[in-house]
Amino acid sequence: MSQTPAELDPSFPPTSGAAVYPGLDDWRSLPISQQPSWHDDPGYAPAIAELSMVPPLVFAGEVDILRDRLAQAAQGKAFLLQGGDCAETFEAATADKISARVRTILQMSVVLTYGASLPVIKMGRMAGQFAKPRSSNDETRGETTLPAYRGDMVNGFEFTPESRRHDPARMVRAYHTSASTLNLIRAFTQGGFADLRLVHHWNRGFTANPAHSRYESLARDIDRAVRFMDVCGADFEALKRVEFFASHEALLLDYERALTRIDSRTGQPYDTSAHFLWIGERTRDLDSAHVDFLSRVRNPIGVKLGPNSTPEDALALIDKLDPNREPGRLTFITRMGAQNIREKLPTLVEKVTASGAQVLWVTDPMHGNTVTSPNGYKTRNFDDVMDEVRGFFEVHNALGTFPGGLHVEMTGDDVSECLGGADPVDQEAFVEGYESVCDPRLNHMQSLEMAFLVAGALAEKG
Ligand code: PEP
Ligand code: MN
Repeated sequence: MSQTPAELDPSFPPTSGAAVYPGLDDWRSLPISQQPSWHDDPGYAPAIAELSMVPPLVFAGEVDILRDRLAQAAQGKAFLLQGGDCAETFEAATADKISARVRTILQMSVVLTYGASLPVIKMGRMAGQFAKPRSSNDETRGETTLPAYRGDMVNGFEFTPESRRHDPARMVRAYHTSASTLNLIRAFTQGGFADLRLVHHWNRGFTANPAHSRYESLARDIDRAVRFMDVCGADFEALKRVEFFASHEALLLDYERALTRIDSRTGQPYDTSAHFLWIGERTRDLDSAHVDFLSRVRNPIGVKLGPNSTPEDALALIDKLDPNREPGRLTFITRMGAQNIREKLPTLVEKVTASGAQVLWVTDPMHGNTVTSPNGYKTRNFDDVMDEVRGFFEVHNALGTFPGGLHVEMTGDDVSECLGGADPVDQEAFVEGYESVCDPRLNHMQSLEMAFLVAGALAEKG
């Protein structure tokens, strides 16, 4: 964290149509990390001006509904399922890939709804997850060193100087790609594609695989429940539509600020780039630009908490991001690693609970469990991922607090990026089947298997 955004950005204050609100630009004088160097680019000011004028991607009323839903989850009356790519790409924003991902999330949520006997809040890491924090600014291959790939909103994955240049026009493309992704998501989830009976039918494909025979009895129970609903005259027409929310890491504050609008009903600022935004483990310093900016918008906010997070960090973040202790406002997404979760999580949860704050606790069992395979791929073991999920449930069950959700990197496609699962992926499969430009994702089957395992654990408990 060296320069502040105000020093970096010669075009500030903006002269375009950006919403003005007290405090909304205070982040510009605070330390910031993980930002592109594009402020001197002639394309920067026009991109920001354009983004300040475009229609919102989500509406303030929907954001308020999500806050209510998350408040239910914080009180133990709903469960959050949040999933999608580590990094979305422009190229992969196709109808097939988007629908496969939405479909997988819907399939997982039917299983989880049954297991938890609770409504599941469905949320994509989708329609805006285009910017990545990186541990190094550069990448070296052989003799050549170029800027690291920071997500399609900043530069290209291809290893050439032109592709790796930080290009502010990419923010505008990210906006349009998010808009078309969200358009398709809205069409799918409102247009009959989410029909409970249909989603249930897709899940039969999973248990038809002999490798998944151990999940048959749970699948049969769900089948019986659906038939029971049917004969009781449940209104399946109403179950054809589901709410589906969009979320991403609020990393590029240039973009997030430009898409912030003042809601005409409430007079308050909403970041209209997504319903839910989270702050990453690397940008969550209390006095940072990221925490300040997100403290000013009305959206529900998540913060990732890694194994080095202290209870003091958590309490200070609550004071800053949720000063009014509003249920649904703040979600802590813990990503401790399977090795650490049982040791590190209890104190955090205990101290936060003792403070009287009511946050939503969600597990991200991916980011603390990344390893390199012997053949050189960034991967995760399905067993480690599941072990962290189990640890998360154990800790909350022991403390009497509510394990409120799952945050996963997953895809609806048949990729090979994470090791293991009942129909196991091995490292040789990476050579052909590894597609992620960033972190490894659970594939379609591994995602469903996780849902069955979690649902089994929840059903036992209930
Ligand atoms: C991510 O969610 O892709 C990510 C970078 O996570 P974290 O901030 O937890 O490292
Ligand atoms: Mn990731």
